[in-house]
Amino acid sequence: MRFPYEYSGCIHVHSRYSDGSGSIKTIAEAAIDRGLDFVIVTDHDTLKGKKFEGYYGSCLLLVGEEISPLRNHALALNAKSHIPHHFRERAQGYIDLARAQGGIVFITHPFGESRFNLLFHKVRIHRWEDWEAEGFSGMEIWSYMIDWIRDVHIRNLASAIRDPDAFVKGPGRETLRQWDLIGRRRRCSGLGSLDVHAKNLIPFVPLIQVFPYREMFDTIRTHVLLKEEFRREKESDAALIYDALKEGRCFIANHRIGKPAGFKFYLEAGSDSFPMGSEITSISGRKADLVVGMYDEATIRLMRSGDLIELVKGKELHHCVQTPGVYRVEVFKEGKPWIFSNPIYVRE
Ligand SMILES: [Zn+2]
Ligand SMILES: [Zn+2]
Repeated sequence: MRFPYEYSGCIHVHSRYSDGSGSIKTIAEAAIDRGLDFVIVTDHDTLKGKKFEGYYGSCLLLVGEEISPLRNHALALNAKSHIPHHFRERAQGYIDLARAQGGIVFITHPFGESRFNLLFHKVRIHRWEDWEAEGFSGMEIWSYMIDWIRDVHIRNLASAIRDPDAFVKGPGRETLRQWDLIGRRRRCSGLGSLDVHAKNLIPFVPLIQVFPYREMFDTIRTHVLLKEEFRREKESDAALIYDALKEGRCFIANHRIGKPAGFKFYLEAGSDSFPMGSEITSISGRKADLVVGMYDEATIRLMRSGDLIELVKGKELHHCVQTPGVYRVEVFKEGKPWIFSNPIYVRE
């Protein structure tokens, strides 16, 4: 195994520096309490929290920003300084700007955020519209808040707040379709995220405060696979995490369903093994097998370019690759969406 070390963390957390309710310290304490290896705070259009980056206990807290114009929100991670933009600006400008600063960019809530307005009507805002833009590294595939609110209406609001997990149905169909489509052209890393604010559900109405950080950190996490262990040194460990996210060497799991213990998905060709995120071109003539495994029994779905090609109930799946395609894995436990891998791209 070339990438034997696995760490998990939460991405897309808002603090008081934008519209979240907690200080960086509160977020760090919650992250330590829930045993996160890392947490990435991304406030709207500011890097004010960056001075607090570093290790808190055993958790590495990193700070990026959520570039938030009218449409086309994106996470800029690892950029050296704040990325300015105009309210109505198209995405390409700030993607280029972020990359010029060493940043990596991920589309956030590609199909918009559903919100309640003051009349309790649901509206969808901040969709990604610049699909022709290039240079982003990937996109959020499964976001707890975006998923949760999708089927919430004023009629079921009370039960949705009482039992939020019952409303979490997995990544949106249109998001997965778009992800698979981009994957046919080029690598597009999928991230799990929270978009947690620990704040008001309805703008300016402080009565309904939902989703404390602590509880959210036990839901959707992104697991990164690394070739070396953390040194507990901010710069080098951050670089390892950002590399894995950029290269799609990661997978998403909802920890409320269970810890994804032992989960692996890789391609084996001769004595070589290729992790998630790999793009492989020279498969012809070689025997190549996709391997999926985990410690718990679950329903494993192997997808190729958006189509289900194998389904197994058990702890492992083997598939001999004969056709190029974008291969990825979805795992369900007792019917509930649990683990989503990044793809392995087998090219012509
Ligand atoms: Zn947003
Ligand atoms: Zn956000």
